[in-house]
Amino acid sequence: MSYIGFMPDTQPASMAARRNEQHRCPHCGSRFEVWHSADPVEPAVDVEVRCPCCGGPHVVSLPRGAEKDMRVDPLPGPEPDTGVVD
Ligand SMILES: [Zn+2]
Repeated sequence: MSYIGFMPDTQPASMAARRNEQHRCPHCGSRFEVWHSADPVEPAVDVEVRCPCCGGPHVVSLPRGAEKDMRVDPLPGPEPDTGVVD
């Protein structure tokens, strides 16, 4: 008799697809990304985020529910593909 103790590696598939949106801080001009896993079919609501650079408030439009697990990441470097800054 053979016994194969094979356990399928079932990891919880709770990782919803995360999306990110890029925004620019109106206070210091630095760019940042807002990550969230909200469903884009949800109606958009205004959510206030804090600039990771200067901490200034910035209202962005996100699908409803995004504010529950959103994350704000700074984007390093200058604006890509849009020419010179200054
Ligand atoms: Zn800022």
